[in-house]
Amino acid sequence: MQVQFWGTRGSIPKPGPTTIRYGGNTLCHEIRTARGTLVIIDCGTGLHGLGLKLLSGGRGLAGHILISHTHWDHIQGVPFFAPFFVPGNEWDIYGPKGLNQSLRDTLAGQMQHTYFPITPDEFGASIRYHDLLEGTFEIDDIRVTTQYLNHPALTLGYRLESDGATVVYCCDHEPFSRDVAEGRREFSGLDQQHADFIEGADLLIHDAQYTAAEYPSKVGWGHSSTEFVVKLAKHANVKHVVLTHHDPLRTDVALDGSVENLRDRLKADHSAVLVSAATEGEAIEVKSSGAVPSRSSREEFSATRSVKPALSHRSVLIRVADVKVATALGEAVHAEGLRANFCSSADMARKLIAQDPPSLAIIDHAFADHNEKAVLDVLRSTKGGELPVVMVAAREHEEKGVTDWLTTPFTDSYARTKIRAWVLREACRWIRAPIPEDEPARLTSLRALNLLDTEPEERFDRITRLATALFNVPKATITLVDESRQWFKSCQGTTGREDPRDASFCAHVVYNREPMIVVDTLCDERFADNPLVLGGPRIRFYAGYPLTLDDGSCIGTLCLLDARPRTFEESDLEQLRDLALIIMEQFQSSTVEVARRSGQGIGYDRQ
Ligand SMILES: [Zn+2]
Ligand SMILES: [Zn+2]
Repeated sequence: MQVQFWGTRGSIPKPGPTTIRYGGNTLCHEIRTARGTLVIIDCGTGLHGLGLKLLSGGRGLAGHILISHTHWDHIQGVPFFAPFFVPGNEWDIYGPKGLNQSLRDTLAGQMQHTYFPITPDEFGASIRYHDLLEGTFEIDDIRVTTQYLNHPALTLGYRLESDGATVVYCCDHEPFSRDVAEGRREFSGLDQQHADFIEGADLLIHDAQYTAAEYPSKVGWGHSSTEFVVKLAKHANVKHVVLTHHDPLRTDVALDGSVENLRDRLKADHSAVLVSAATEGEAIEVKSSGAVPSRSSREEFSATRSVKPALSHRSVLIRVADVKVATALGEAVHAEGLRANFCSSADMARKLIAQDPPSLAIIDHAFADHNEKAVLDVLRSTKGGELPVVMVAAREHEEKGVTDWLTTPFTDSYARTKIRAWVLREACRWIRAPIPEDEPARLTSLRALNLLDTEPEERFDRITRLATALFNVPKATITLVDESRQWFKSCQGTTGREDPRDASFCAHVVYNREPMIVVDTLCDERFADNPLVLGGPRIRFYAGYPLTLDDGSCIGTLCLLDARPRTFEESDLEQLRDLALIIMEQFQSSTVEVARRSGQGIGYDRQ
């Protein structure tokens, strides 16, 4: 693949004597495969020059345009791209699917008459628009994989594989964790996922707007520091990293100094990573490294979680009587890349501790006999009392020497997250909702509604559809919290019908019987490590309103979900409550219907 830089500046075009060498145009890149497929990534002002060059090559142009996000510095060239005005030209434009409007409408927004004399309808070329989510698709001989980046706007990174070579483009992006951004912590969680996305790239083009010294005053602005990007490139085994999205205030001289510094550091580390700053006009031939692992699909990314190297040499001592629970724990331990050692007596525990000192012990409370106490004593004296000891039980209670509890039943995912946190001595930022005191009565009332596992109904879908439109969110559900799962009577914007109760946000609402708003899940101790946040729907925002029947049973919620953090006003909550009240009326009327059909009265029958 051949990559050419047509724009390298971030935020605003900055032509002038101090930016003459690295360039003043905002982001635009031309990529061509050996077979001649043309892909343009981002449409900053650099697109103007590229358009003129393409036109000079003759008529009958066809190409593909990938847009990372629709901030100005990435789309401002669109109205000035000459090939769009030539009839017979064919273009495909791809970009992240927005929350409330299509890519086409967003791009047209900057071409309204107030800003520009021509609308997209007047383009002569035929243009097809494609709204993208995370996934993998093909453009001729290029395999394109997308992944969301961390930026105030919905932004996609692109991984392009063709001719045996890999080019990854990540603009604009800020590390998820500030500790990782500032080098105090190794890659983990979402930052590791970002590194996985980049892994093994022959060429990485990455946002590096700031220096490490500037970054602390720019936290949350959605950009990376040059130092972080080089560290990321090393970590992800990148061959050549090109820093781009240069700050408008960064002069050529400052960039020279910055790159020189980074190269010196890499040299001192004996690193083979090449680093350069993107230069307008520069072309790079990206050759196959021959060892590029082919990414097969987005699903593969979310399904496999990389094991922290720190975990790989550790073991967990398990003494659990219930075979099923013991097996589940053993599997969870293995899945985290740890070794599991099972013991049945104090003597065996002592022997195993000597052979393979554990990082964690998990024992159960199934039988409080002498053997049990003896094992606990052995564990308590291990590592000077520093060994974390977790007790498996149906409920927590007073017990000396126990560090934490794992209450049954639990899902595999929950056990894994807790085990990882215990071994790493990190706080586990995933808290399951406790079981409400009226659980048996609550479940009886829920089941009496006869709604669980029924087909979707228009009367409920109408409400969730209205909710997504009213609050401008991609997803809304009517959730019923069942014994071990949450089940959706209606879901807009999601296809799954249920999740384990462990991971349920709505179960917290049901327990507290109060509305719950989580403006940013990653900043919330209860949810940051929840699998619905780290993977799957990647919930960043949640608002849930309890659904309570006349008999006082809280059975579920009306909830709103977004993949981006957002705020929620008091007036929004009132509207959410109004919708919840309509749902509850519908519930009661179903109950009345069921009661009428079965010829018996039910406690909360209003008639
Ligand atoms: Zn930008
Ligand atoms: Zn941006």
